Amino acid sequence: MSNGPKERLDRRDFMIASIATASASAALAVTAGAANAQAAATVSADPASGTVYTGDTIQGKKVVSALNVKDLEPGKKHLLYFQGVQMPTGQHWYVSVTVAKGAKPGKRVVLVSGVHGDEMSSVHTVQTVMNQLDPAEMSGTVMAVADVSRPAMEGLQRRWPNFGRGNDLIDMNREWPGNENGPTAPSRHAGLLFNRLLRPNADAAIDFHTGTTGFDVTAFNIAGMDVPEIKAMAELYPVGQIFDNHVYPGVLHNAFVDVGIPSFTPEIGAARVLNIEMISLFVEGTMNVLKHFGILAGPMGRTSKDVGVFIGNSALPILATQGGLVEHLVKLNDKVEPGQKVAIQRNSFGEVVAEYTSSVAGEVTGQRSDAMSEPGDPLTFILFHKATLNGGETYPE
Ligand SMILES: [Zn+2]
Repeated sequence: MSNGPKERLDRRDFMIASIATASASAALAVTAGAANAQAAATVSADPASGTVYTGDTIQGKKVVSALNVKDLEPGKKHLLYFQGVQMPTGQHWYVSVTVAKGAKPGKRVVLVSGVHGDEMSSVHTVQTVMNQLDPAEMSGTVMAVADVSRPAMEGLQRRWPNFGRGNDLIDMNREWPGNENGPTAPSRHAGLLFNRLLRPNADAAIDFHTGTTGFDVTAFNIAGMDVPEIKAMAELYPVGQIFDNHVYPGVLHNAFVDVGIPSFTPEIGAARVLNIEMISLFVEGTMNVLKHFGILAGPMGRTSKDVGVFIGNSALPILATQGGLVEHLVKLNDKVEPGQKVAIQRNSFGEVVAEYTSSVAGEVTGQRSDAMSEPGDPLTFILFHKATLNGGETYPE
């Protein structure tokens, strides 16, 4: 936090400070007074100062409100709960943390899953990696964080249900690096996690995702390939596509990159299900990354070179123009040519009301899996190479 917002926060009792970037809207004052206690409760100890045990134990696991993995005993696995933001009842949302602390010192890699609540293959990938680790044989530390967006995960849905300003569904992967004094509980939850758990323990970080409910994707990595440390990691995965783009502000891997920690996002197929075949590819790639950093010994597994990876720097969204039933004419990973028909749509009489074509040459990277759609819904994403790219791109969701 910079001095400016901190001083203002002291003076005015309570501010919602979206800090840093000196935009005119960076600090938004809200009603002062009643919030004294809140400000005092949320502006607290330096998160870099070390591990804080709350004294609570949940289902046999100790609870921390800040963690520095250097405080943990080497050569062991540690299972902890991180204390996140409070619920409306006053209890906390707790996040599961597994640390494999190597017997010898070395690099620290953070594996995250559950930022979206319906992306089960991401959780299983991280669990599988952690189950394969033997801390006695490791030089360095791997920390796994699951169920980041707890209330979203409890409902097996993408977004965090929040009613602070009327019913709302908040996408946690547009909130990072969060704000411990932010305007919503998810924003504060992100701030607590980023400042007190994720950032202090990462030399590199991987934030695992999948497609979303109603929309399937291939196995691919979203990675800024212009950053050598990120390119090196992304290329260690034996998966068929890399999306070389800096994408949305507010995504977790960008928050890491913004503070100098190389990071990227694997995408592991469909939401809600476990895609065991795809999961094994991402486990193999992640074990390669741990070998790359010297945390594990042993030969590399298969990499992107072994699967003839296709790298695109843009994704063409093909949006429904009509309501109706959608029939895909191509499959995930298919190559398409400009002018190629990729989907048709029928109304309730069975008449064809729309035909959708690709305007680019590329590969299918995402497809609507819910068979009905309304105008504006993304039907297909085509990964392709754009000659001139103006920074990170955002897409209809
Ligand atoms: Zn996701």
